[in-house]
Amino acid sequence: MAANPSKLIGGNFLFTETNPKDVFIPEEFTEEQKMIWQTVNDFCVKELHGLGIERVALMDAEKDRELVLELFRKASELGLCGVSIPEEYGGMGLDFNTGLLFTEALSLGLAFATTIGAQVSIGSLPIVFYGTHEQKEKYLPKIATGEYACSYALTEPGAGSDANSGKTKAVLNEEGTHYLLNGQKMWITNGGFADIFIVFAKIEDDERLSAFIVEKEFGGIEIGKEEKKMGIKSSSTVQLFFNNCPVPKENLLGERGKGFNMALNILNNGRIKICAGGVGGMKYGVAKSVEYANQRFQFGKPIADFGAIKYKLGQMAMLAFVNESAVYRVGADVDKKYNELKANGASENDAKINSMREYAIECAILKVQGSEAMCWTADEAIQVHGGMGYSMETGVEMAYRDARITKIYEGTNEINRMLSLAEFYKRAFQTKELKINDAMKTIPLGIAQNFNPFNNGFLADETEIVSNLKSVFMIITGAAGRKLKTKLVDEQEIVMNLADIMAVAFMAESAILRVKKLKDDPNADKDALKLKIKMTQLYVYEALDIARKAADNAIDSYSKGVEKFTMKRVVGSLLKNYDINPKDMRRAIADAVIAANKYPW
Ligand SMILES: Cc1cc2nc3c(=O)[nH]c(=O)nc-3n(C[C@H](O)[C@H](O)[C@H](O)COP(=O)(O)OP(=O)(O)OC[C@H]3O[C@@H](n4cnc5c(N)ncnc54)[C@H](O)[C@@H]3O)c2cc1C
Repeated sequence: MAANPSKLIGGNFLFTETNPKDVFIPEEFTEEQKMIWQTVNDFCVKELHGLGIERVALMDAEKDRELVLELFRKASELGLCGVSIPEEYGGMGLDFNTGLLFTEALSLGLAFATTIGAQVSIGSLPIVFYGTHEQKEKYLPKIATGEYACSYALTEPGAGSDANSGKTKAVLNEEGTHYLLNGQKMWITNGGFADIFIVFAKIEDDERLSAFIVEKEFGGIEIGKEEKKMGIKSSSTVQLFFNNCPVPKENLLGERGKGFNMALNILNNGRIKICAGGVGGMKYGVAKSVEYANQRFQFGKPIADFGAIKYKLGQMAMLAFVNESAVYRVGADVDKKYNELKANGASENDAKINSMREYAIECAILKVQGSEAMCWTADEAIQVHGGMGYSMETGVEMAYRDARITKIYEGTNEINRMLSLAEFYKRAFQTKELKINDAMKTIPLGIAQNFNPFNNGFLADETEIVSNLKSVFMIITGAAGRKLKTKLVDEQEIVMNLADIMAVAFMAESAILRVKKLKDDPNADKDALKLKIKMTQLYVYEALDIARKAADNAIDSYSKGVEKFTMKRVVGSLLKNYDINPKDMRRAIADAVIAANKYPW
């Protein structure tokens, strides 16, 4: 008998209506998971914020190396370096979604979050995902205890976004025992004090990268000076120079020539974590802003009373809520996929790798959305503080500078927008994992009537709008694809527009599914639900705005004449008016934030 086809398919949200019962929502975190959040939160408050915000803002990777290492040691003692490492190798073996919650809490650690983040994510996961048992046994226990600090060395001066073009070379020595590594790496987080480097290099004349576990002790490694950066100043970032660095043959990680795939899979993981960290950052931004707005008086009243400030507070809280809904939805799906693959006989490594790879589209979407929402929040947090926001003593200028890197690393946001589309095309037209042809047939039906089996009246308009956003994405993608064919990839402006429509559809749907699930939960806090509904509706309003602009740009860019007229009519009928009062909604959300003096939950 044929096995039931899996429902856990990345990108499938574009074609299927998800039953709210099938999504994980943050309200479902267990007490144990919340305790992990609390432990990390307490660590950050005590060890980082306890230093005084100005001291933290002035912390410098070079001058404060000892302090950073002391914090690293304390974090290790709490087990924070081992969260992603399986228990059998001395770690906590957290499931993926709990790992995201950990990342959210860690964001309160400011730039130190990058130090621990690199340790538990890009620095150690290549071994967790691709290592042999011997490699895992040798390295993971020491990484888990923090005895080994680790880093990930992919980027080179000439190879950034085009990472596979790196020139670092590995040549087997005459004895056939060691690869001799030569080349230069750049922007390596934790590189100034790391004991272990995951280095990507090409073996001999290979076209594709391989990966190696390199110990500092091997010799032949020169560590450059700390970079002087805009933000995350206490996070170590250096260049590395390899001069005949001898790497034992058995330290090749995974298969020869598969390093680039490996790098991309590890980056998928880092991408979704940027969103999880962003959620923590956004909540922090809300808290800092409202605390200030409540106590700063101008024109005889707290500035929190002014509509212009309420706009910012309401919008910040709404963005945190939506990103939170989406990131944990995907995190839980990754866990479910992992369990499904294991149940179907996949090895531990394959299940980990493929569950992550499955959600590459969603990870790219979340990276872009999370980082941009966080950067916007940090910018507006400064604005709420006025001149004090520009001063080091409030900490928000540091948050602004620190947040900015998230749009650049783990693949720039341009690359991630393109990637979400490229991955969609690959799955729809090459591997055919996404059944686009079947879906295209139902679009006319979707236009004629609201065709959603889970649309039971509650948030019916919003659910229909999300369906329509997906239809608009597919209609324009299909039409532009037919017209431009392979040239579409060169028309990056249009690709960016399409990526944005796809992204807002996913984000809006995630928030809707969350509140629908809560509505059916008799134990859900009813007052909180009312506010969550408002946040969802406000985002849907925003999503429509973003999609309208992106759709117009795309259509105006590739079509003309009758085709343009027809496309605009169709898209216009799908992205029709949505009748809410955004001002009242933002005010209601802001009032809840003002009353709580923080993000409300
Ligand atoms: C603080 C910091 C920490 C970092 N940590 C690490 C680390 O630990 N390990 C590591 O390996 N790397 C790390 N990086 C490197 C980071 O991943 C790269 O900076 C990033 O991938 C971008 O590469 P680049 O800087 O060379 O920019 P470029 O690739 O030169 O990009 C410059 C601009 O061109 C755009 N662009 C590039 N290609 C295209 C294209 N095909 N189409 C359209 N636009 C394009 C980009 O989006 C960007 O806007 C770090 C960087 C920083 C700043």
